[in-house]
Amino acid sequence: MSAAGAKSTRGLLVVISGPGGVGKGTVCKELLRDGDMTLSVSVTTRRPRSDEKEGEHYFFRSREEFARMQAAGLLLEAAEIAGNLYGTPRAEVEKLLAAGAVVILEIDVRGGRQVRALAPCLSVFLLPPSTEELEARFRGRGTDDERTLAERMALAAEEMKAAAEYDFTVVNDDLARTVAEVRRIILAARQKEEES
Ligand code: 5GP
Repeated sequence: MSAAGAKSTRGLLVVISGPGGVGKGTVCKELLRDGDMTLSVSVTTRRPRSDEKEGEHYFFRSREEFARMQAAGLLLEAAEIAGNLYGTPRAEVEKLLAAGAVVILEIDVRGGRQVRALAPCLSVFLLPPSTEELEARFRGRGTDDERTLAERMALAAEEMKAAAEYDFTVVNDDLARTVAEVRRIILAARQKEEES
């Protein structure tokens, strides 16, 4: 993916990251509502959750298949998160960008770094209103014991250190406001590119 190629076709690559529990998935889902943006479907080695569908939420693959894809250069970026591998299929993203689409990658901070080093993109980091609020959200899920909760909070603190590397940070205090803000940032970047 060359910088010149991305520019001439007016496609826009958008990286959205943020700590677990910040609501990235919900924000990204809402961004798709108007039909003017697309979300890249990642490949992962983790098991599907009960409500997840192959090809819609993720492409679920074995570690062997993932390694094969990686070795063949089929992934734009990849990272291991909590013992599972995640990666962005390169061909689909390139195809969508060539068609002029806004392509959203909802990926972790290490993936974000890899993409920024590779291709021109807009990057947005979602922050929780406070660490207390983040902890309250984790507790609200009611699925974690104290040790897991402490691990999640430590990981979130680590991830949030990367916020300064991103073009924009948005505090997810209210879903509708956050979605409107991220949408405004994306459309403004797109317009700027079209005018250049
Ligand atoms: P989950 O397993 O809860 O769906 O996702 C766990 C984490 O993996 C989230 O932080 C999510 O943003 C990240 N993630 C999902 N897909 C990718 C990907 O393709 N690449 C990278 N680097 N991270 C991903």
